[in-house]
Amino acid sequence: MKWHEMRSDEVMNSINTDAENGLTSKEVQKRTQKFGFNELKEAERPSAIIIFLSQFKDFMVLVLLVATLISGLLGEYIDAIAIIAIVVVNGILGFFQERRAERSLEALKELSAPQVMVLRNGEWVKILSKELVPGDLVKFTSGDRIGADMRLINTKSLEVEESALTGESLPVQKSTQPIAGADVGLGDLTNMVFMGTLVTRGSGVGVVIGTGMNTAMGQIADLLQNAETMETPLQRRLEQLGKILIVVALLLTVLVVAIGVIQGHDLYNMFLAGVSLAVAAIPEGLPAIVTVALSLGVQRMIKQKSIVRKLPAVETLGCASVICSDKTGTMTQNKMTVTNVWSGGKDWTVTGTGYHPHGEFFQNDQKVEVKHSKTLQQILTFGTLCNSAEIVEKEGHFQLDGDPTEGALLVSAMKAGLVKHSLLKNFKIIEEFPFDSARKMMSVVVEDKSGNRFVVTKGAPDVLLGISTNILWNERQENLTSDYASKVKDSIENLASQALRTIAIAFKPLNSSEKIHTSLEAERDLVFIGLQGMIDPPRPEVKQAVKECRDAGIKTVMITGDHVITAKAIATQLNLLPSNGKVMEGKELNSLSVEELEAIVDDVYVFARVSPEHKLKIVKALQNKGHIVAMTGDGVNDAPAIKAADIGISMGITGTDVAKEASALVLVDDNFATIKSAIKEGRNIYENIRKFIRYLLASNVGEILVMLFAMILALPLPLVPIQILWVNLVTDGLPAMALGLDQPEGDLMKRKPRHPKEGVFARGLGWKVISRGFLIGLATLAAFMIVYYRNPDDLAYAQTIAFATLVMAQLIHVFDCRSEKSIFDRNPFENIYLIGAVISSILLMLIVIYFPPLQPIFHTIPILMRDWLLILGMSAIPTFLLAGSLLTRKTSKTMI
Ligand code: ATP
Repeated sequence: MKWHEMRSDEVMNSINTDAENGLTSKEVQKRTQKFGFNELKEAERPSAIIIFLSQFKDFMVLVLLVATLISGLLGEYIDAIAIIAIVVVNGILGFFQERRAERSLEALKELSAPQVMVLRNGEWVKILSKELVPGDLVKFTSGDRIGADMRLINTKSLEVEESALTGESLPVQKSTQPIAGADVGLGDLTNMVFMGTLVTRGSGVGVVIGTGMNTAMGQIADLLQNAETMETPLQRRLEQLGKILIVVALLLTVLVVAIGVIQGHDLYNMFLAGVSLAVAAIPEGLPAIVTVALSLGVQRMIKQKSIVRKLPAVETLGCASVICSDKTGTMTQNKMTVTNVWSGGKDWTVTGTGYHPHGEFFQNDQKVEVKHSKTLQQILTFGTLCNSAEIVEKEGHFQLDGDPTEGALLVSAMKAGLVKHSLLKNFKIIEEFPFDSARKMMSVVVEDKSGNRFVVTKGAPDVLLGISTNILWNERQENLTSDYASKVKDSIENLASQALRTIAIAFKPLNSSEKIHTSLEAERDLVFIGLQGMIDPPRPEVKQAVKECRDAGIKTVMITGDHVITAKAIATQLNLLPSNGKVMEGKELNSLSVEELEAIVDDVYVFARVSPEHKLKIVKALQNKGHIVAMTGDGVNDAPAIKAADIGISMGITGTDVAKEASALVLVDDNFATIKSAIKEGRNIYENIRKFIRYLLASNVGEILVMLFAMILALPLPLVPIQILWVNLVTDGLPAMALGLDQPEGDLMKRKPRHPKEGVFARGLGWKVISRGFLIGLATLAAFMIVYYRNPDDLAYAQTIAFATLVMAQLIHVFDCRSEKSIFDRNPFENIYLIGAVISSILLMLIVIYFPPLQPIFHTIPILMRDWLLILGMSAIPTFLLAGSLLTRKTSKTMI
């Protein structure tokens, strides 16, 4: 018999699983050994050797290697070996950079790997989906991605979208009924769910019958190799820029060689110098350093509780101009406690905090016994019956399993001695229509011991009021006249204005013939009972985060399903709503087109009573206005808006798999303040990339120009090839990496968001590269000339001076790159990596100059003490001359 033909108990027997306790750890271990991990096979990755060899596939590096081989054959062994050694060391560094970048991307994937709820050793625990084995009992609800193939054991209004497998985009209703016949198509297996499909409604429990490649998905897995791009726009732009730079560097090199030859230099020497110069000047390492900087930044973001799922988001974060954030749980703590109850014109207050079920009820400051008030008892009981959460006690602590709003209702009832599992002995839930944010309510059909059935609905009070025809007033059912309705509305507003979240409870008795199949049938003609108001305090850090965002030119918009007055009260507490700011309701949004919304959207700071569908409209209107939008969400219906936003953000704790998959960023702690930190980090990463691009390119310009100027002036070569390569390896590489780790500038979160189309050389970077590079080249040449003309017989000494000046000029310039404004704006000792890189570069330079065995290899001569003054003076000029001129410009401006 096949799985779908069996009854649930037969399935459990044949797969040998205990329905109460699930599998034991020992059994899981055995089954993992037998069946392996629940993973689909992935395409093979290139081996380490291939990655290493690919470091040498660059055309100019190959030319250099061939040229070196030739010079080796011609007898220049030392030069040849030294050059090859440098090229190999460069390759090794490149290899490690690439490996590191790849590893951190892998680690990132692992972090956002899907998880599932599974019954093991008698307890429901969350594990990685890849750890599932056949026989595991798995629980899932709306928004979850199914982790393996399962036969269903239990379902509640379960609907699953299976388009990944069947192409059918309409959700399929699922049940546990056995299906006759061995040959049933995948689309008709309604008592099974399959790996990779999506729960769109309801919930269920299934027993795993197939994992990994042994699933329906595994059989078509070859088609599914996930090829999501991880390249960021900047990386793409740099790739194009790299091509242009190669051409420019090559042309300049050819020019240097040509002029050198015309001026009478030896062709062979010029050729080797030219090739070395080309290798040094082409920023081939740039993409790898960018990836490393990005991935290091991403790791810093993980420490600050945000996980980047799509690398391009790191860059886009820095451009964000609007954050649309959910209120509940993101701006507030999502730790709800019922503090007020209202029914039939009577008010009660409830004491106690958190999920600890101890507290008292007061009416007009008088303590009351709940058992003496039938209405109070009823509203509390119904709040518990129409509820899918549980409060569990563990070692004296009460914990919530489920939604905090529902938890609060359970706790308020428990304070009156009404406990869910005891109530369920007298009432049986025979049908459940789970909560969804579009309906804003949840309903159950209940049967009591005497067989009487009734509907209980709980949800947004204004919505429930609209579908109620009667009201309980002084324990009697009355017609819900407009008079009563306005009394209810007053109390809703009264609770909401205290920033309380309100939930209404209503019911409807059913006669014996009445059947309820849909939520639509259940949720009409109700008897309104009353309200429970719960506090959900703002997260303390959010107010400051909203302010910091405002300073950074980023507007914060609150989007919530909650009541408009509650939303407004919280927004005011968070200082998010300016005095002229508008609050808009979902129903108003319905009546506006995207274009109409666009016209006013800049003035709206709070959207209340919205459904997830509205979010997409809001994103579109903001984007049409030219904003870069970050949008948060957690539910299934939020996914389209998350996808459409420039930066889709999902919740790590409460988010569904669907929302997470659609998002570019996951907030591990669901906290708004984390978005702000991520934006700050995003801005910093981008600025750091700019810093080292500036450094590397200015250095390269300096290197080329010193050679070019020398050739034009008919001078000997100021640097020998090995020196050029050394500068490229040591002076360029290490400090550039350290710039990638630089701290943000003080005013980073005071600047306006960056324009997303901004080019690499925007904001004066191109000018800085050329002007600094030009001066570095000039200063190096000047030092060379001074020493060369002092003693033209000692060319090697003048070359050593040029070499030291070039190195020092770059190492001073690197500090200038840390600031958009001026070197004097920053404390040079802040970045210890940079200090380390600069000190090691200086030490390596000194070794090359003063360590006798290396002198013949690097063609160096020990520099005399007095010449260091010249070197330091010359090398400081490029940075301080321009910083000085900038300073005078600034002061003269302020003086005017
Ligand atoms: P956010 O601010 O994140 O949008 P929200 O919780 O206010 O969150 P929804 O979850 O869409 O938004 O809830 C909308 C309304 O539905 C709430 O104001 C509340 O009145 C009601 N509600 C929320 N949770 C439940 C629930 N579990 N059962 C019944 N009604 C609920």
